[in-house]
Amino acid sequence: MSQIRKDLEDLTTQILVDNDLMYKAPIDVISLANLYDIKVYGIKTKNEISGAITYDKDEDYFEILVNTNNAKTRQRFTIAHELGHYFLHKEMLKDSNMHIDALYRTTTDMKNVDTKELEKEVDYFAGALLMNRELLEKLSKEYGIEELAKIFDVSTSAVIVRMKVLGLLC
Ligand SMILES: [Zn+2]
Repeated sequence: MSQIRKDLEDLTTQILVDNDLMYKAPIDVISLANLYDIKVYGIKTKNEISGAITYDKDEDYFEILVNTNNAKTRQRFTIAHELGHYFLHKEMLKDSNMHIDALYRTTTDMKNVDTKELEKEVDYFAGALLMNRELLEKLSKEYGIEELAKIFDVSTSAVIVRMKVLGLLC
């Protein structure tokens, strides 16, 4: 496992421990965001936007928007993804107005950064936050993918990606 991934495992585990959420599933990502004074708003839009995170310079707070037209599991992953931006790129976001995540596309005015790499890291963060490594390793000995998806309230494809990355699935 690369150093970046190790760091992301450590960071997400620390966030869960700090908030007494270790070994819990599913993780309530909205309540978790609220604990960091981040409000989460649903937006109903037919376009391809999955979510966004914005920083209000005047009031000094972050807000997450999520497209409620998407499946519930997708919305949870999006919120976890936006939380990833908060924990990993807080200072960068403070200099930009809004970070928008859409299908195949990310819009942001973060300059001189490889956004593709950032998005990959943030997706890794989201998977690790929703499916803590230790808990997933333990539960995957007892349950199949469909059941794990229900336990963690994520899509089956999210379970598969996470299990592959942890070497729990070939
Ligand atoms: Zn993003």
